[in-house]
Amino acid sequence: MVVQIAIPNSNSTVSVATGLFINNEFVPSVDKAEEPIKVYNPSTEEVLCTVTSASVKDIDVAVAAARKALKTTWGKNVTGFERARLINKLADLIERDAQTLAELESLNNGKPVKIARDFDIGDSVGCLRYYAGWADKITGQSIEIDRNMKVAVTHPEPIGVCGQIIPWNYPIQMWAWKVAPALAVGCTIVMKPSEITPLTALKLSELVKEAGFPPGVINTVPSLGSVGGAALASHKDVDKVAFTGSTITGRKIMEAAATSNLKKVSLELGGKSPHIIFESADIDQAANWAALGILYNTGQDCTAGSRLYVQDTIYDKFLSVLAGKAKELVIGDGFDESSGGGPVVSKGQYDRVWNYIDSGKKEGARVVIGGEKRSTPGYYVDATIFADVTPNMKIVKEEIFGPVLSVGKFHTEEEAIALANDTTYGLAAGLHSTDSSQCHRVSTALEAGTVWVNQYNVLYNNVPFGGKKQSGIGRELGSQALDEYISTKAVHWNYGEKLDWPL
Ligand code: NAD
Repeated sequence: MVVQIAIPNSNSTVSVATGLFINNEFVPSVDKAEEPIKVYNPSTEEVLCTVTSASVKDIDVAVAAARKALKTTWGKNVTGFERARLINKLADLIERDAQTLAELESLNNGKPVKIARDFDIGDSVGCLRYYAGWADKITGQSIEIDRNMKVAVTHPEPIGVCGQIIPWNYPIQMWAWKVAPALAVGCTIVMKPSEITPLTALKLSELVKEAGFPPGVINTVPSLGSVGGAALASHKDVDKVAFTGSTITGRKIMEAAATSNLKKVSLELGGKSPHIIFESADIDQAANWAALGILYNTGQDCTAGSRLYVQDTIYDKFLSVLAGKAKELVIGDGFDESSGGGPVVSKGQYDRVWNYIDSGKKEGARVVIGGEKRSTPGYYVDATIFADVTPNMKIVKEEIFGPVLSVGKFHTEEEAIALANDTTYGLAAGLHSTDSSQCHRVSTALEAGTVWVNQYNVLYNNVPFGGKKQSGIGRELGSQALDEYISTKAVHWNYGEKLDWPL
């Protein structure tokens, strides 16, 4: 079935095929065991459409399609040159349709169209092209054993059928981060988008077919996490699961992988990232980056710099500059050109964020800006800054995933490092200082997979990204992401040694 969704402020519509995308066709559920998923517009709270929800049996069908493609048209049967050509073609089509995809992303996720188009989609196109560049450069090794009679050769083989489970905060970008390296090395994919934001993954599936990928290489199965996600994680014919989402779900996925077939797992999980401002920092610039760190994507960012620590000598001044910057960002409708951020994604997320704001107030943190609900429709949360926080407050310890910043003060560098590392997470961290020795010391001491110095929240497709501690296992982006999808085979060749028998 195809639905037409109206684009606000225009006479146009965007069509979305709402079935399951398996073997390059949109198909109904085989057993219709699951209720269709209602998809909402978070700016209006209205239902946009419903999409088919994959059942456990549908996951079996999608995995079988991916297995067949792996054994026939893809996997070891397609050259790196051809993989590169197809991935580049897909990137071209996404670039062609960037405006439509951005509008659909904005309708379903709430983020501004211009940000979806210029950042999410721009980076996704870049990600596909980056890995297309790798596809014909995947090489093994020839390892010398004995030049006169033996050599060992390694073959980087595709790990196989990959289940990919992604969240709702960057529906297109997380899709690209997962799909691109897997395709580059020759894996096949069963992609489960978030049940909250399945629309752009379905639209991208149309482009997968148009680009010319053989049937079964990429299959898309919107489904509830507890149904389709769990079925993929525990499937005996899935060779690898790549997951981005919460730490709690990551743990479940690892357990399911361990008790089913010991499939390989990579996890990109939550964070509660510290951002440290030292007294020598350029205050205006540091405030810009701190505002970006917590407000980008309305704070629904795994790397959000949600704990800000400011040196006591500049604390009051910095807070006042930061509050001014935060107020300047317009959080509004994604189709309004002036909006720099949209609503949070869903009613569930809205309630969750407000519970944290209430808890911050109850625990005695000082509200500097925000903290008041709007009376108009839409899941809007304005930038909220809490000052004078203490380490045991819930808003300091737990991931909020909204535009809510906790600010505390420190006196010494050692104290700043101790506060920053006082968390079970280890995804990202930032620091601002004009003392380069301090930058080096502190970036070395911070327990995080990514550390930003005099900037925040910038990622590049050629730089690896991932977490330490309970923020994840494995790396995405960069050449490291390829390793997550490769199974290295060592072939030992004997062209000269004679075996004397018996031993
Ligand atoms: P979530 O864990 O609830 O859901 C993520 C995905 O997992 C969804 O597709 C969901 O359907 C699926 N899922 C849920 N239960 C499952 C189960 N039992 N088995 C298999 N799959 C299941 O997370 P969310 O609320 O969608 O996303 C927000 C979280 O994602 C935050 O914690 C955030 O920090 C994290 N995140 C991390 C990164 C990163 O790169 N580290 C990036 C973006 C988001």
